[in-house]
Amino acid sequence: MLEELAKIREEALKRLESIESEAELTELNVNILGRNGALTGILRGMSKLSPDERAAMGKEANEVKQSLTAAFDEVKARLEAKAEEERIKAETIDVTLPGVIDVPAGKLSPLTLVYRQIRDALIGLGFTTYEGPEIELDDNNFTKLNLPLNHPSRDMQDTFYVDDKVLLRTHTSACEARALMTLEPPFRLVIPGRCFRVDEPDASHSPIFMQMEGLVVDRNLTFADLKGTIDTFVKAVFGESVKTRLRPSYFPFTEPSAEVDISCTICGGRGCSSCKGTGWMEIMGCGMTNPHEIENCGLDPQEWKGMAFGVGVDRVACLKYGINDIRLLYEGDARFLRQL
Ligand SMILES: [Zn+2]
Repeated sequence: MLEELAKIREEALKRLESIESEAELTELNVNILGRNGALTGILRGMSKLSPDERAAMGKEANEVKQSLTAAFDEVKARLEAKAEEERIKAETIDVTLPGVIDVPAGKLSPLTLVYRQIRDALIGLGFTTYEGPEIELDDNNFTKLNLPLNHPSRDMQDTFYVDDKVLLRTHTSACEARALMTLEPPFRLVIPGRCFRVDEPDASHSPIFMQMEGLVVDRNLTFADLKGTIDTFVKAVFGESVKTRLRPSYFPFTEPSAEVDISCTICGGRGCSSCKGTGWMEIMGCGMTNPHEIENCGLDPQEWKGMAFGVGVDRVACLKYGINDIRLLYEGDARFLRQL
């Protein structure tokens, strides 16, 4: 019987060495230590032995049982550690591998591109950016800018009113009033932002559009300063070969006022269907700030002169990138943006 016991132990230990899975381990455990296992069988057979033999045999069998149980636990721990290691290995992510999912990247809107080009050119001339709210007081949007209550530009049909005194600004010029009232002159500002007018959207109209206002306030400003400034940023956006010209015009907040034309970017000035054969394209309005506006905002028009221009960023973007429908600028269609 002792021999049998030794044999059971020897075989069990030998088999334990080569066990690779928990299922195998459980099976072996059942075969040896289980209710019908080999060791249990021996323990049962001990009832036939004499008391002395039984005591010796029992001691030996217990030792075998204990050592085997310990060996089983050890293998179990080894298998569990191995499984854990494999699990961690399987879950490890190599962050240096290239991605497998094609994430579509966004692109900058032509409005942003054109805005940055103009802004950067103006910053090179000593301008700083300035911003105001999109919901504005009627006073800043109109009255302070020399647009009295009965002025045709204040027509209800053009303006989104919030109430009698508050509206969605119709131009970035509303920020001129804010700047004139709060900043210490002299200053040079570039003022970008969205503006709103009641307009049915079509290829050339949008109820939301983007403007950039330029405003300079200083002591000795002349129309030549205005022309030079405009010429500089137009060339920065459209290239050195593009020419600018000023045509007399009228705006209530500037005196004198002018429209700015640039030589046609498509035909170079020879005349084509885009410029209706004239060789010129209108891009914005400008002028010397009306002394009434300067006075309305609390500065002395005898001391301080102003010059201003308002660029339709949408219009410039359409001209620069050959876009024939202004709505494309506001729809955020990735297919459109990818072409630029
Ligand atoms: Zn042309």
